[in-house]
Amino acid sequence: MSDVPRPARRSWWLEEALSHPEFADPPAPPLSKDTEADVVILGGGYTGMWTAWFLKEREPGLDVILLEADICGGGPSGRNGGFCDGWWGHLGDMVETYGEADALELLMTVGRSPTEIGEWCGRHGVDAWFRHSGDLAVATNPNHEGRWAGLIETAARLGVEDEYLLLTPDEVQERCASPAFGSGMLIPDAANLQPARLARGLRRVLIETGVRIHEGTPVTRFRASDPAVAETPGGTVRAGRAVVGLGAWATSWKAFRPKTTVRGSYMVVTEPAPERLEKLGWTGGEQIRDLRSSIHYARTTPDGRIALGLGGLQPDLARRIDHRYDYLPRYAERVAGDVVRLFPPFEGIAIEAAWGGPINVSGFTMPFFGSMGARANVHYGLGYTGNGVGPSHLGGKILAALTLDADDGFTRLGVVTREPKRFPREPVRSPGMLIANAAIRRKDDLEDAGRRVDPFTMFVARLPRRLGYHLGPR
Ligand SMILES: Cc1cc2nc3c(=O)[nH]c(=O)nc-3n(C[C@H](O)[C@H](O)[C@H](O)COP(=O)(O)OP(=O)(O)OC[C@H]3O[C@@H](n4cnc5c(N)ncnc54)[C@H](O)[C@@H]3O)c2cc1C
Repeated sequence: MSDVPRPARRSWWLEEALSHPEFADPPAPPLSKDTEADVVILGGGYTGMWTAWFLKEREPGLDVILLEADICGGGPSGRNGGFCDGWWGHLGDMVETYGEADALELLMTVGRSPTEIGEWCGRHGVDAWFRHSGDLAVATNPNHEGRWAGLIETAARLGVEDEYLLLTPDEVQERCASPAFGSGMLIPDAANLQPARLARGLRRVLIETGVRIHEGTPVTRFRASDPAVAETPGGTVRAGRAVVGLGAWATSWKAFRPKTTVRGSYMVVTEPAPERLEKLGWTGGEQIRDLRSSIHYARTTPDGRIALGLGGLQPDLARRIDHRYDYLPRYAERVAGDVVRLFPPFEGIAIEAAWGGPINVSGFTMPFFGSMGARANVHYGLGYTGNGVGPSHLGGKILAALTLDADDGFTRLGVVTREPKRFPREPVRSPGMLIANAAIRRKDDLEDAGRRVDPFTMFVARLPRRLGYHLGPR
């Protein structure tokens, strides 16, 4: 097995970005006095920052203040796999949740985001390694083969079958010669990027645009009153409107606890080995994912590394987001081992870094947006469920529209009007998720190893679906 990497609180992506002055400057010191603003945004991830961007684009004179506990991009927005896509892979579940017409509208609307993100980076000189090279889903065991038949049928009925390209095992091997891969499905309209460069680039542009950003500024108390009040250690912000873009951290708020929960995802990145990528034939830049519920996602970097992640993991009964979400040796070892299993030419190439992050999960695995508070003046966007890089760009448009009371179609999308499915309360919730997650992962691992899944594991793994959640296998 490859070396076990050193623990990291910052992802390799963020360290890479911060090593370049253009992604580290200018400074955004903590809030140090009481202040007022038109809009206060909680959270400096993509959701908070895209919202700030679209607010200023629509109303340049608006006074927007953004409060981030860590640094912008310190959370999942600077730690993720960099898969920047829409929701074409979710078509089946989306039709179930929203109905055909609303699902199609959502798909078309979010479908613009990857291209628009690439264009935005180009316009603002943000070199985020944006590459529009497609998303390849691969079967890694016989149970996965043909899994997309239902999706393709639905796509044909909705007239969007051209968004998908089915690949034979040989065609998959031409793109990446992994012994673990069978047939595949390519979604051409998907990109990948360096996630922390995007987050830090957004931060720079926002500061240039006049958004007041305060890093190292945790909101310790929040009142959804009119005006909304955000208290921090250095001062209090009062603002007529507020936006909550706290991702997984919002799960600790009573108002959001029934609607979202947290799981972990863990990644490793290898040292550069472009000649080994050549050997694999993986030079087209496609991002690759398997069809497990506890998904593997892999991509390459311009200097010839592989970054591989594994989702659906849970650091025991962690009820708070603590250091176990940043790094856990057992998950780092597991993912490091998977690099060699999935990409054998990388045997002997060291793992340079490993990290993790909290995934903000919703019952339908789709984000949800809404308003609350004294005058419905507090708006939120949460629950991307491990798929927020592209969709948070749409999230920013929705939240800007909600904040400005604009009636322009974004506020009527299904992700705004449809209530998310609620999770059970404690003490059922955490142990229930832990047990179901363990069964889901066990089922996936057994199938990948070509072994039979015992009926008890299968029963527990399927429970979330039976209870109406879009989580785990059917
Ligand atoms: C390991 C990993 C891999 C992933 N891979 C992908 C992928 O390849 N493609 C994809 O589409 N999605 C992926 N995701 C999911 C994606 O990263 C998220 O959906 C997206 O970043 C969500 O952005 P956000 O702004 O809503 O939340 P976040 O990025 O979580 O931002 C929330 C911010 O709020 C801050 N905060 C928390 N509490 C407070 C407080 N009290 N006061 C002030 N600020 C606070 C946090 O520090 C954080 O910066 C991945 C996630 C992880 C963890």
